[in-house]
Amino acid sequence: MEYMNRIYKLDEYSGVLTCDAGCILQSLHDYAEEKGYLFPLDIGSKGTCQIGGNVSTNAGGHHFFRFGGLHGTVVGMEVVLADGRVLRMNVDVSDDDNNDDCTHRFQQSSASLRKDNTGYDLKQLFIGGEGTLGIVTKVAVACPALPTSKNVALLVCNSYSDVLQILKTSKEELGEILSAIELIDSNTMKFVQKYGSGIGDHLISELLSPEAEAADKQPLFILVESQGCDQESDSSKMDAFLTSLYESSTIENGFLAQDSKHIEEIWGIRESCNPSVARAGYVHKFDVSIRIEAYMEVAEEVSDALENANLSDLTVCVWGHVADGNAHINIVSGQCDKDAVVQKQLKICILFSYEEKWLDFCGTRHWTIEAQVHVTNQGWSCLGAHVTDEEFI
Ligand SMILES: Cc1cc2nc3c(=O)[nH]c(=O)nc-3n(C[C@H](O)[C@H](O)[C@H](O)COP(=O)(O)OP(=O)(O)OC[C@H]3O[C@@H](n4cnc5c(N)ncnc54)[C@H](O)[C@@H]3O)c2cc1C
Repeated sequence: MEYMNRIYKLDEYSGVLTCDAGCILQSLHDYAEEKGYLFPLDIGSKGTCQIGGNVSTNAGGHHFFRFGGLHGTVVGMEVVLADGRVLRMNVDVSDDDNNDDCTHRFQQSSASLRKDNTGYDLKQLFIGGEGTLGIVTKVAVACPALPTSKNVALLVCNSYSDVLQILKTSKEELGEILSAIELIDSNTMKFVQKYGSGIGDHLISELLSPEAEAADKQPLFILVESQGCDQESDSSKMDAFLTSLYESSTIENGFLAQDSKHIEEIWGIRESCNPSVARAGYVHKFDVSIRIEAYMEVAEEVSDALENANLSDLTVCVWGHVADGNAHINIVSGQCDKDAVVQKQLKICILFSYEEKWLDFCGTRHWTIEAQVHVTNQGWSCLGAHVTDEEFI
């Protein structure tokens, strides 16, 4: 797919960007930005992943809360089925300047409408389909206008009930400019401090205080981002939000980015979670969607289950898109635990957690294991496999 990497256009009126499925996500961000638009999907792997892969895994990312998922933002798609038939679903890539054979095929394609309400929406079947129904070859994505103001804060609180309060207050105070809320637990933050790229280290040292560690506190870190188009008004909303949290003692400490370098540092910390935890040892990865209230309880249940199975030397790390209830639960072993017995034990206790306890929190219809690429490729069949840096950077 890497050779199918052409960006066709970004319609200046509808904001719809049309491209080949092999385009690297970062290149779509850069292209949209040049045209004054924001590509609505943003994930840690954007420098390497392709939009066709994103669509096929139904990737969510940091801005799912603000812009919704690909089921909403993908407005058109071209797919090649196993028998060679090409399905063009509201995608327009006709290009009169281009005379190659491919162009000829596209001249009969339909217009890429911002809203297409004709008949069944077949393209939805391919979003999250992981290539099982066909190969995605072209995608049209609706992009919002590029925000001109951005504010980012990294906050520290002592309990998950404080996190819930931050979620509630952020919606009340920041309203429509709230663009991301991310959680990092203290185990993950310690690994970022130890194995991270170094970006934002001074912030981590400031926020992960030795006093808190001595008191055996397990602080939770929350990244809050707002994006809008009026710097003055957006900044004053962020100030009011932070003041309200301090006054109600919801947060212990925090840092509000003062410039774009600080913003990069805070996001750098967040994006270091995956590679830092991968460097910490052997990682069992779970990417789950759960009810927001049960977000940390599920992780606690996993820890308890591991302890009951005499596997308390494993570290449970949690981070993710808390506003969407999407948690990356990573179980890290410092030692090579490829031993089949340990693998089995681990598998059993995790399954136990899923089937017996997690369902109590989440209900059968309200939790999913997301990004099957993790679960099927690494979780079940290769449980205990060593995940190298290269696979995650
Ligand atoms: C560091 C990191 C951070 C991440 N953060 C997030 C996150 O925040 N939110 C989130 O939802 N996910 C996240 N992910 C997972 C992410 O969704 C996937 O890694 C990414 O979307 C897959 O894109 P890819 O190009 O790497 O696809 P691949 O890994 O190459 O493929 C993934 C699946 O899609 C199929 N596929 C690929 N291309 C096509 C195509 N053109 N047509 C049909 N099927 C195809 C493949 O066969 C495979 O089944 C993250 C992953 C990493 C490594």
